[in-house]
Amino acid sequence: MAKSAHTETATDRDPESALETARHQLERAAAHVDVDEGVIERLKHPTKVLSGSIPLERDDGTVEVFTGYRAQHDDVRGPYKGGLRYHPDVTEDECVGLAMWMTWKCAVMDLPFGGAKGGIVADPKELSEDERERLTRRFAEEMRDFVGPTKDIPAPDMGTDAQTMAWFMDAYSMQEGETVPGVVTGKPPLIGGSYGRAEAPGRSVAIVAREAASYYDMDLDDVTVAVQGFGSVGANAARLLDEWGATVVAVSDVNGGVYDPEGLATEEINAHEEQPGAVTDVEGARQVTNAELLELDVDVLVPAAVGNVLTEANADAVQADIVVEGANGPTTTAADRIFAERDVAVIPDIIANAGGVTVSYFEWLQDINRRQWTVERVREELEEEMLSAWADVRREYEARDVTWRDAAYIVALSRVAEAKSTRGLWP
Ligand code: GLU
Repeated sequence: MAKSAHTETATDRDPESALETARHQLERAAAHVDVDEGVIERLKHPTKVLSGSIPLERDDGTVEVFTGYRAQHDDVRGPYKGGLRYHPDVTEDECVGLAMWMTWKCAVMDLPFGGAKGGIVADPKELSEDERERLTRRFAEEMRDFVGPTKDIPAPDMGTDAQTMAWFMDAYSMQEGETVPGVVTGKPPLIGGSYGRAEAPGRSVAIVAREAASYYDMDLDDVTVAVQGFGSVGANAARLLDEWGATVVAVSDVNGGVYDPEGLATEEINAHEEQPGAVTDVEGARQVTNAELLELDVDVLVPAAVGNVLTEANADAVQADIVVEGANGPTTTAADRIFAERDVAVIPDIIANAGGVTVSYFEWLQDINRRQWTVERVREELEEEMLSAWADVRREYEARDVTWRDAAYIVALSRVAEAKSTRGLWP
């Protein structure tokens, strides 16, 4: 079957930076919360941003210098926490915006962590495995003074995975002279990782989609779902929703996707990491581009690929009643405004995909205690944490005339701001 020619690039997306979006969202939430102006001013800026050069000896012996960042937004509630992404579009501003989102994500989940995000401007697909290992080890060394189990704890994000975390943890541990599993989360379970961590962001997306559907009196058996991105977030969300009775009618990866109004057998489609392009090989389904998938006539849309895909240009054409944000920052400020006017419920990333960092927290606890949990326990506790966060957000949503995003931000900002006021400003 022919593959769709459409491959998504940064230029297809809205130019609004993650930092601009994050600042707008903070300002909107601030209008609803009784917080000291000075606290809001402090939260608009990251505490620290590290940037540095990471030299890499390529397999052919030449040397290339990459740029890496780590933005630490806020740690008033606990150590900085957030992913490391390897992607050609990584910028300092993007890391700061994503770090801010981590602060809110951890706060809305009531985890004892702050927010951070880092990355390297690199396309991991163009590096060999050995090169990725050398790059990661050198990056870990450059960041050694700034990270640690009580300071700043990286995790996987776009372009990085459990193996990347294993190299990072090994490089850090070698220099410390002892094994320090808690310096990163999202490691392989064999070396202190948590079972159920890899599936967790997708699982939380599915839980939140289920709760949102039930809030709007939709029976999951009658709900149709389109999922953009069949990577670790999208594939796990799609498969779980399918298992729980929903009809997943469309999925896609970077090369394009497929649509079958009768429903797709999501278990049988390989995820992007397992087999890139597998989603476009589904027999009997109609090929759709990533842009078309977003505008399909479905009940629930899950953008779980990259940021800025729902923009002023397509928000009016989105037919879903509920959007559940699997990716970080898939909706621009302008699109958010249009969705609010059209009464499309947008369940924000800071709660929807927060399963990842929540199981990261479980992993960190397991590392401290040197005791591994079963996957059943992880799933049970994640379910409990998600339902409790959902109830907190729903309470704000029902109490005020706001969007779901505003409600989630109000919960998060109130917690962070209260912690900041209680600790005070020194000196
Ligand atoms: N990168 C993930 C996120 O954006 C997880 C971060 C973590 O586990 O620290 O939420």
